[in-house]
This record gives sequence, structure tokens and C-alpha cells, in this order.
Amino acid sequence: TKQSALSTLEHLRAEIEQRNPAQPEFHQAVHEVLETLAPVLEARPEYAEPGLVERLCEPERQIIFRVPWTDDHGHVRVNRGFRVEFNSALGPYKGGLRFHPTVNLGVIKFLGFEQVFKNALTGLGIGGGKGGSDFDPHGRSDAEVMRFCQSFMTELQRHIGEHTDVPAGDIGVGGREIGYLFGQYRRITNRWEAGVLTGKGPLWGGSLIRPEATGYGNVLFAAAMLRRRRGEDLEGQTAVVSGSGNVAIYTIEKLTALGANPVTCSDSSGYVIDDKGIDVELLKQVKEVERGRVDLYAERRGASARFVPGGRVWDVPADLALPSATQNELDADAAATLIRNGVKAVSEGANMPTTPEAVDALRQAGVAFGPGKAANAGGVAVSALEMAQNHARTTWTAARVEEELSGIMNAIHTTCDETAERYGAPGDYVTGANIAGFERVADAMLAQGVI
Ligand code: GLU
Repeated sequence: TKQSALSTLEHLRAEIEQRNPAQPEFHQAVHEVLETLAPVLEARPEYAEPGLVERLCEPERQIIFRVPWTDDHGHVRVNRGFRVEFNSALGPYKGGLRFHPTVNLGVIKFLGFEQVFKNALTGLGIGGGKGGSDFDPHGRSDAEVMRFCQSFMTELQRHIGEHTDVPAGDIGVGGREIGYLFGQYRRITNRWEAGVLTGKGPLWGGSLIRPEATGYGNVLFAAAMLRRRRGEDLEGQTAVVSGSGNVAIYTIEKLTALGANPVTCSDSSGYVIDDKGIDVELLKQVKEVERGRVDLYAERRGASARFVPGGRVWDVPADLALPSATQNELDADAAATLIRNGVKAVSEGANMPTTPEAVDALRQAGVAFGPGKAANAGGVAVSALEMAQNHARTTWTAARVEEELSGIMNAIHTTCDETAERYGAPGDYVTGANIAGFERVADAMLAQGVI
């Protein structure tokens, strides 16, 4: 019954919080999912079987390790490394590595938990995991980053493998870091095992369009929501984008290509507003080549752009908002401002960038909301395509990968839309994504027994 499903889930939530003290991001991610599962537990009694949801909320394995390295002055530094292997019912653990000072076990668990559902939604046979370190790459030389990556992999290598666990990038881990990590893996294991990491360079096993995939995919998801909910396309829509890393850059590139006008980007120092639309080539030069801050973009761009120190992009009026920086960057106050300015859709390029209060406000205002689990799944989907290419020892053209990506994003949109409809929440992509992801993982877990 409805009451018993709700109280079971409430009970479970309290238990999980108690068992995992001081992990607010993990609690938030779990709560957000459990909150939407009651209708599916009522409809399918096998899902209410004791232990199923509990097993889903407990990682299969959690690894914490020391990462010692030597800086350019010869001082020994110590960071902490993590890999949380959350769920492998649908395939090998798959998910990125995040190098950022805010990383701790709770953050990695929240990301791993999200990844389980996201990866299920891709339909590509990948389980969920996440890892990283509290290492701060900011201001570190290439040589320091290399020594850090080598030390990190010296421990991580014993836990991963193409059939076991396949890491990739996330915040602070891009092509440079994946290169150093792959080099060390190959050296220690003496194996050319391309499928052990994704996001590799195109010369040594990487897939074309992998760097673009998260941002491109999010724009395709936003376009599908606009089409379905409002009968509109992207042409002429103004967009605010936060962040200026890999996800933000390729979000801006795709928005521009499809006729929208992305007017902002940001980093921890503030944001840039550019009335003519962000010039993505200049942004790539500043962020990827020079590894500088966004104020440098405004300085070089001239009259159309200005840098706003310390501000937030959500104050800029826009039709679309694509948060592409980090967790909890869009709060209730920002949501209220976006709604007041007439925003039509919010689509999450980052993982959990919108606070629960902000999500509620957007839903109540009738704004189309694409949760990251669905909207940003393009990145990990193309990672799975990279694994497929590695396994077949082949490379696909950029056009082929883009076509696959587009098909996958549209299929995820349809799945979420239809699932929401089926469970009495039409237009609610949060419910749709959570239930559709849950059904796939839960069915696989039930079929494979209590393990
Ligand atoms: N870090 C990305 C995510 O949040 C991609 C992970 C991957 O490609 O494995 O989904």
C-alpha cells in the first residue's frame, strides 16, 4: 500500500543517515531518489522486498588510500585517494575521478550513487562507481600533476581493470591527467589494456567526441525537453551557463551551433557576461591552453563582455539555464530569480548542481527540469562507446559517435518522460529518471540474488 511504501522509505532514509554520519551530499542524493520511489514500490511488490533498496544504498566496496608525492621544491606531500565501487549489477563499475580540495568520502559516495542510476539510463551495460582525491591541481606544474597521477595510479591499479572498474575524468581530471594515469597503469601492469580508462587521447585508444559528449548531450536533452513540453526549438533562446571547464565549454559550443545564445560562463572568481554570446574558441584558449581564469576572457574579448567578480550567472535573465560547474551551485534564491525572469528550462550539466529547495521551486513554477542523471549522461555514454571501440580494436568516426550520442540522449529523454507519465507524474523528469534507472538496476539485482 501507499502508506507502507512511504513509511518503509522514510525509515530507510533515517537508517542510512545514521549509518553514514557527516556525509550531507550522500544523504541529499539518497533522499532525492528515495523520495520518488514510493509509486514503483507500491506497483511492484518485489521491489519492496526487504534489503533491496538497502543494498542499493550501500556501496559494494569503498577504497581509501594514501597518495604521497613530491612537489617541485622537493617537499613530500600527502593526499587522500578514494574509489567507491558502488554497484556492478549491470556491468563493470564505471565513473569518473574528481581531483578537487572539497573531495571526501561523502562526496565520492554521492557521485557514485548518482552514477549507478545515470549509467543504467544509458542502457549500455555499465555499473556505477566514482573516485578521486582532495588534491588541488590549481597552480601545480605539469611535473607535479604527473607525479601525483603516478602515485595515485600506483595504488589504484590493483583495484581496476577493463572487466572490473573503468575510471574516467570528472572535475580536475581531463586529457592531461588521463594520459599520466594511463601511462602509469601500462608501466606497472605491462599490459596494453585500453579499456581500463576512458577519456584517452585519440591516438592511443580514445573515442572521438568523448571530450564534447557531456556538454553536447546536455544541450540535446534540453532541446528534447523544450520540444516536448513547449513545442519550441533552441533557435534564438538565450542561455546562462555556469562553469568554464569541459562540460561548460562544450555546452556553449553546441548551444551556439544550434542557434541559441549562451551569454555567460564562470569560475570560482566570478562570472563573465557576453552580450554577443560567449566566443568558445577564446574560452578554450584561456581555460584549456593557458589554464587561466575567466576574467582573462573578458579582458581579451572587448566591448561585448564584462567580468563580474564574485557574482552568480543566475542573476542574468535567460530562457534556459544549464548549471555546469558543481554540486549545489543553484539554490532556492537563484531559482526564484530565474523564475522571475521567465526561465523555460533548467538542464543539469554538473552532478546535483540544483539544491532540493530549488528543484521544488522550479517544478512548482512549471519549469522543465532535466536532472543530471539523465541530462548529463552523454559523457559516460560515450565512455561506454569508447570501451566498445577498445574491445573491438577499432575507431569510429566523429560523425558516427555523434549520431550514437544523439540517439542515446533522445532515448533517455523518452524513457524518463514515459516513466514519469506511467507513474502519475507527467512532465516530472526527476521521478522519471529515478524510477527508470531504479527499475533496471533493481531487476538485475533481483535476478542475480542476494550478493
Ligand atoms: N564524470 C562523468 C560523469 O559524471 C563521466 C564519467 C565517465 O565517463 O566514466 O558522468
